Amino acid sequence: MVTAIRADWVWTAVDDEPIRDGLVIVDGGTIAAVRTFDPAAVPEGAELIYRPGEFLMPGFIDAHTHISINPEKGNQIGQLFDPIEIQTMRGVHNLQKMLASGVTTARVLGEERLLDITFKDQIAKGNVSGPNLLVSGRIISQSNGHGRAISAFDGVDEIRKGARQNLYDGADLIKIFVTGGVSSTRGGGLLKASYSREEVRAAVEEAERGGTYVSAHAIGGPGVRLAVEEGVRTIEHATMATDDDIALFEDVKPWVVLTQSIMMHPTGIEQGDADNPIIMQKLFAAREVAAERLTAIVKSNTKLSIGTDSMHGLFPFEMQTLVRWGMSNVNALKAGTIRAAEVCQVEGKTGSLEVGKAADLITLAGNPIENIDHVESARLIIKNGVRQDKLDA
Ligand SMILES: [Zn+2]
Repeated sequence: MVTAIRADWVWTAVDDEPIRDGLVIVDGGTIAAVRTFDPAAVPEGAELIYRPGEFLMPGFIDAHTHISINPEKGNQIGQLFDPIEIQTMRGVHNLQKMLASGVTTARVLGEERLLDITFKDQIAKGNVSGPNLLVSGRIISQSNGHGRAISAFDGVDEIRKGARQNLYDGADLIKIFVTGGVSSTRGGGLLKASYSREEVRAAVEEAERGGTYVSAHAIGGPGVRLAVEEGVRTIEHATMATDDDIALFEDVKPWVVLTQSIMMHPTGIEQGDADNPIIMQKLFAAREVAAERLTAIVKSNTKLSIGTDSMHGLFPFEMQTLVRWGMSNVNALKAGTIRAAEVCQVEGKTGSLEVGKAADLITLAGNPIENIDHVESARLIIKNGVRQDKLDA
């Protein structure tokens, strides 16, 4: 089954400039050609999809999210204790919203009861629709830490065991929590460094022994430096990173994944936890410095990507916000595609329109390099060569 897709612009994510009047040939689930449109280049018998006025590009990659959490409903940690059936129903809905916004791959950084591993498997089998997933299994946090829900891991031996169990059960990476966070009432202050150096090192050792890496929730404070120094590969949030932390990011070059909508968007924590004074106090403390700190990160040579952190459907807002902090439109688009693929270690498979890569692609109603707000207008959505925008048709 061969499909030829023609659009006014084709942007590969490798080059800055889009191809005008471009053509992408999809053969099965794979990209077979990317070029300027020419009727003679359309293979005989191919289905031709022509999208005049539209911008064809790789599907978005959400480098940090969750499946069963809805921040707008409040008490995110409490949501992880809900009956598994309720979490599953929320998850099905959330995954559909992600896909409809143009997200074709997502990295899931915290679920309980291996819900993420089950969803990854069921999506791959075609039993439920959603982006292709990278998953982290059990949340590795402390008994008194941010992110702690059902399970908790204290001390080097428990962390080793948790990491090994996750890898055995099918986790793609290990997620740990090394600082406090906004959306917990009993997890401590934002700048609390919650794991010891030895505990963080144990997680990194076990991940690397298993052929993968550690992602760490790290808002700010000494935990950020500790995580980078001990070999954590992806730093999540970094909302309160100091100039010294940013210099360390430039030096050691971990990936930093910014999650802005959950903190900045009116339907995020602001809405969900409006009646919780502890969370509101932490939210406003983070917001107070966020614009200045995130602008400093964007201006630096930090390796950056983005994630919605459960703000399902709001991935476009993450790219728009990067532009607000001074990033160019084209680099914001790269942060949400080719760079996010590197964060997820899937750059050999997806994240750009190149021959041999998976046909994960979307069209937008206009050119976002000219006007970033077009990222909100996903139309055609194809994942692994299969149309996702017409699944119900
Ligand atoms: Zn998260």
